[in-house]
Order: sequence, then C-alpha cells, then structure tokens
Amino acid sequence: MTTDPKLPVLALDFDGVICCSAGEVLLTGLEAYVDMVPSSRFVETLSRFHGTSALDAALIEQDEFSRAFQPLVPLGNRAEDFGVALCALERGAKLIDQQAYDEFYRSLDSDWLSAFHEAFYRCRATSRDQDQASWLRLHRAYEPFVDILHRNCSKMTLAIATAKDECSVRLLLDFFGISDLFTDELILDKDTAIEKQVHLSLIAERTGADMHRITFVDDKVNHLEGVQHLGVRLVLASWGYNTSREVARAEELGFAVATLDTAEPTLFGGTG
Ligand SMILES: [Mg+2]
Repeated sequence: MTTDPKLPVLALDFDGVICCSAGEVLLTGLEAYVDMVPSSRFVETLSRFHGTSALDAALIEQDEFSRAFQPLVPLGNRAEDFGVALCALERGAKLIDQQAYDEFYRSLDSDWLSAFHEAFYRCRATSRDQDQASWLRLHRAYEPFVDILHRNCSKMTLAIATAKDECSVRLLLDFFGISDLFTDELILDKDTAIEKQVHLSLIAERTGADMHRITFVDDKVNHLEGVQHLGVRLVLASWGYNTSREVARAEELGFAVATLDTAEPTLFGGTG
C-alpha cells in the first residue's frame, strides 16, 4: 500500500477499534499485578485463567471477573491503568466516572505505576515470544470493521495511532490478514509517542495531509478530547470497550459516534 498525498487520511486507534484484546489485556494485566502483589487474592483468578480450556479470548471476555474489569478500561490510557483498575477491584473501590477514576489514580504511588507499566510489557513479551500462536488466539478482530477497511482502502490513506507496541500490532495485523493495508511509517506506536496528538501530527507530516483531511477513530473519549484542538475530524468507535457513559460523553462533546453498522457511511460516505 502506497501513500497518495491526494487522499484523505483515516487514522485508527488499534485496540477497541480494529482488535479486541480484552482477553489478552486482562490476562497480561493479572500476570503483571500478581507479579507485583504476590499476596493478592487475584492469584487464584489468574490460576483459573491459566487452567486448561480457559485460555481463549471469548471465555475470558465472558468471565465474571472480566465483566467487572472491562467497564474500568475506557477510563484509563496506558498499560499502568490496567494496574489501577485491578487495584480498584482488589480494594473494592467504586469508580463510577472519570473524576472518581482520576482521583483513585492519583492516590497510587507513581513508582508503583511505572513498575506496573514495565511488568505489563515484560509479561506480554514473554507470553507472545514463548507461544505466539496461543498469544494471538487471545485476540480477535472486529470482523465487520476489517471488511469495511478492505472494501474502502483505496478511498483513504490508512494509518494507526496506538499505545500498543509495533511488534504486537504487526503480528496481529498479519493474523487478521490486513497487514498490507498499512505502511510501516504510518503505524505509530507507544515508542513513537505517548500522546495521540503527536501521532496525528506525525501522520499529517508523513502523508502531507492537512489536519482537516484527517479523520481519527478511537474507542476512548478522553483520547478524542486530547486531540480536539488539532482540527481533525473525530469519531468514537462504540463497538469496542465503551459503555453508554462514553457514548453520552462523546455526543455531549459533539463527536461523531459510529457503530459497526454505521461506520462505513460515517467514515467513507463522502469520500468516494
Ligand atoms: Mg483503544
């Protein structure tokens, strides 16, 4: 796939937009957490997930523990936020909105958060490198969205702006059969920058597109809010980990909200 400077750009977050990694994130988060808090009652939860048939994305996603964990995910940004969510669950903290979450986050030791961040990526790399096939099976593509990208990839230049590492992203794009839709220079990962606004500025620079010709799709309202000042078109992907809380917030802020049924006309309707 080459980059045509005449085309508008569709910049996509990865997790929660292209890929459902809920099972992998929970498993990796638990591994990192138990590593750091060996006395945690989640040791038992982790053993259950590691047990025989449970290492399957769908089974983990449907687990009761996962259903308690998932609503906290949209309130965070980076790997350490999975540690924040697990801490909240262990302590029985009720984090009903962004303000409550942010206050809880600030109550935690910053060194502990940094150590969790490191532990999370260490655990992920270990799982991925030891048994890549099993690690890949912890993920699934949002198939209808992948089909939309295949059908429309000639209409826009596609880019990825993600907090994940590029190695994992490339493996998963291969696994989902869409690696050829993205050039290496337009996959911007956690090591390229922490903030999505830097990702989008680099995407504008590398494609030659003005900001107003870039559409950015993310499943986190706080990420969309963070780049609002750039003048890119913002779309919330509501098929990811979002709850009605995030959809209401996006609508309040005037962002477009797409479902898997409306994503094609919302993203590509006026570009043909
Ligand atoms: Mg995401």
